Amino acid sequence: MSSAATEIKRREKPVIAIDGPAGAGKSTMAAHLARRFGFLNLETGAMYRALALKAIEHDLGFEDEAALLDLADQTKITLQPQREGNIVLLDGFDVSRRVREKDVTSAASQVSVHPKLRVWMVEQQRKMGEAGGVVMEGRDIGTVVFPDAEVKIFLDAAPEVRGNRRYRQVMPGSEPEHVATEAAIVAELKERDTRDRNREDSPLKPAEDAVILDSTGLTLEQVLTKAEDIVHAHLGSQV
Ligand code: C5P
Repeated sequence: MSSAATEIKRREKPVIAIDGPAGAGKSTMAAHLARRFGFLNLETGAMYRALALKAIEHDLGFEDEAALLDLADQTKITLQPQREGNIVLLDGFDVSRRVREKDVTSAASQVSVHPKLRVWMVEQQRKMGEAGGVVMEGRDIGTVVFPDAEVKIFLDAAPEVRGNRRYRQVMPGSEPEHVATEAAIVAELKERDTRDRNREDSPLKPAEDAVILDSTGLTLEQVLTKAEDIVHAHLGSQV
């Protein structure tokens, strides 16, 4: 075999993987690091949310893996990185706001347990990040999607702190009946955490080589500074 054939294709630019439980602040961190280092921020959770929304629209059971996979094969999900977060296109339609609603949030964590569906997602996520220069956030980026990511951060915080932060983030334009109590938000986060951490395929857990950052007692500014320090320590002159 020629050396060209065996040559491993290296990325031109690094991948920064951010994983952690719901509400830990991953999106804020990803958007910040992307701006700071001129990378693209990609929210993989939005892809699970978009497919879950389509399953709701098609009245599919969230436990029916074969039907969900069929549906996925007829679906195009596009993430458009912005200064803050991503615009999410489902078959060309902007569903960025709709996918953040409660029914889709719960559905996303239910559809994401299916191994074959995860393979479908991971394949696309790898393509999106293969050239590098991305900050990709989710639950399995450092463990499954890019186990060779140059920087891995596992961002955690106590559930009550995450719930309180979510509660204080007033969703612009939310209808009063969609505004949950703080206790309900904490309960929902804990339920999703339990499902994400205990599923058989790609459970939420830090990669062995991830830097664990617990933001429980930290201000947002302190967290972002620490994240920048981690990137500098790993990438040095590359950024
Ligand atoms: O990150 P976000 O809260 O938008 O993710 C929604 C759901 O999608 C999560 O609760 C999780 O079940 C699933 N998810 C996943 N793997 C990812 C990203 C999200 O399983 N990489």
